[in-house]
Amino acid sequence: MLDSHCHLADQAFSEDLPAVVRRAREAGVDTALCILAAGEAGEVVRAELLRNLWPEVRFACGVHPHQAGVWLGREAEVAGFVRNIVEQDDAVRAIGEIGLDYHYDLAPSRLQRELFAAQVALAQELERPVVIHTREAEADTWDILREAGGGLRGIVHCFTGDAEAAREALTLGLHLSFSGIVTFPRAESLREVAKSVPEDRLLVETDSPYLAPVPHRGHRNEPAWVTHVVEVLAKVRETEPDAIADAACRNFSALMEA
Ligand SMILES: [Zn+2]
Ligand SMILES: [Zn+2]
Repeated sequence: MLDSHCHLADQAFSEDLPAVVRRAREAGVDTALCILAAGEAGEVVRAELLRNLWPEVRFACGVHPHQAGVWLGREAEVAGFVRNIVEQDDAVRAIGEIGLDYHYDLAPSRLQRELFAAQVALAQELERPVVIHTREAEADTWDILREAGGGLRGIVHCFTGDAEAAREALTLGLHLSFSGIVTFPRAESLREVAKSVPEDRLLVETDSPYLAPVPHRGHRNEPAWVTHVVEVLAKVRETEPDAIADAACRNFSALMEA
């Protein structure tokens, strides 16, 4: 099993990272993709600790739309900044999370779009997968990816869109990753969408420390709990949890090692 999206270098894990990693392994989670926020010095230090504790973990690095404002006036420097991090570290396989967030709207949308497009272009040039965050911004997200013109592989993380959004993302060649949201009682329509995603495009994640699944809602999330996401997906897709976990692992390796 794997967790395709977590923030284990977040401050939320600074006190007990070894125990968090141990519980993940005990739960059968063999690997994870740890998202690093480009330019956060604290995350770099904690990522070092993480790779000693859990050598199988892979990393993604990028400028999150929430942080776009920091780059105002220095938009042209973003791609070079991320490129340096990716090229200097073999464990950094993907570019992300990157994208658009018009819900929190912490940075001007024009700036978000510019940084997203620049990092998508970088991923194409380096032939790396992208990890996409999109919230209340789907139309613009697909537009930017379409304008980038193919050759892109990657993950729409924490997918919460409808059937139409799923179709758009799949047409663009992307994988859809489901988080603890799929376990929430009111997520009936999301479970319906999860039913029909092709097995070779399916991924699972926690987005730890956020979005703890049922039955852990309200607590800090951690990779061990990806099992709850897997169980719900198995139920709605009328298969065994092992089948979901195996498919997710296969898909993940294909994306990251290609
Ligand atoms: Zn996100
Ligand atoms: Zn995230």
